[in-house]
Amino acid sequence: MENKKISLIIPMYYEEEVAEQCYKRVKTVLDGLDNYNYEIICINDGSKDKTLEILERLAKNDSKLKIISFSRNFGHQAAVTAGLRNVTGDAIVIIDADLQDPPELIPDMLKLWEQGNEVIYGKRKTREGESHFKLFTAKMFYKILNSLSDVEIPKDTGDFRLVDRKVVDTINKLPEHNKFLRGLFSWVGYNQKEFDYERQERFAGKTKYPLKKMLKLAADGIISFSTKPLKILGMLGIFCVIISVLLIMYALISYFFKLNQLSAGWTSIMIAVTFFAGVQLISIWILSEYIARIYDESRGRPEYIIKNKINF
Ligand code: UDP
Ligand code: MG
Repeated sequence: MENKKISLIIPMYYEEEVAEQCYKRVKTVLDGLDNYNYEIICINDGSKDKTLEILERLAKNDSKLKIISFSRNFGHQAAVTAGLRNVTGDAIVIIDADLQDPPELIPDMLKLWEQGNEVIYGKRKTREGESHFKLFTAKMFYKILNSLSDVEIPKDTGDFRLVDRKVVDTINKLPEHNKFLRGLFSWVGYNQKEFDYERQERFAGKTKYPLKKMLKLAADGIISFSTKPLKILGMLGIFCVIISVLLIMYALISYFFKLNQLSAGWTSIMIAVTFFAGVQLISIWILSEYIARIYDESRGRPEYIIKNKINF
């Protein structure tokens, strides 16, 4: 019988400081596995540093290292998506380039896979070298996400996981853009298995997830898994109407019964006007986040553009 094949997906964005080390560590682990074939797919997500140069040099001597190079930066989730669409393996592992997720765990994940688990996702028991801010915001995010979403999305997980070919085929059939992959992997079902690991510090370089990208990912996560924010707008509207009715009653009673002169009218009007304007603008903003995504889907532009592929 032919050996089973493992495909690794490694997205890279400005990772010149870690690319080679990452390749070596991953390679050592994969070479140590008996009875498995493998391929390593690195996606250069539009980095303009030496990432691609390093990868191309390594790929010259290793046909198992395959490179997909984007025409510009399309983001981490798009990079992983491109990887998923180009794998040929039976088991697919998604791993970060910065070695925060130790590749040495892959053999254990494979064992769980051989036992019939179809999605084996890493749960971060500890997270080394990450700021209190990141830990706090991540915690809040998963709390909010799970309270809004109908699918249970495990907290403290990232995209580090091993998935069966079947699951990847299912994910590849989904046409949606602005993906929140860890949510989708949960959403598709199948036999899910969690395993704990200690997340390491970044091997070198800085995070490629600045606040802006984190917020985008968080918004994608919430919006693609819940319509509750829209329903909350309705609640907010009712709440505002109740307050305004009370205010109107107060104003009318004050006027007709001359309880007080309402010379402080300016203050109350300003408060009411700014408060309601704020509520309305926030509502429009939430609405527009959904509309922007509908618009994005309707244009039907691709999620990413591949400039070239090597060793495919
Ligand atoms: N990444 C990417 N495109 C981006 C941002 C990040 O391909 O626009 C990759 C990055 O190179 C890394 C992975 O996504 O392999 C996770 O990013 P990072 O380690 O910076 O995120 P953090 O661990 O700080 O959340
Ligand atoms: Mg990282």
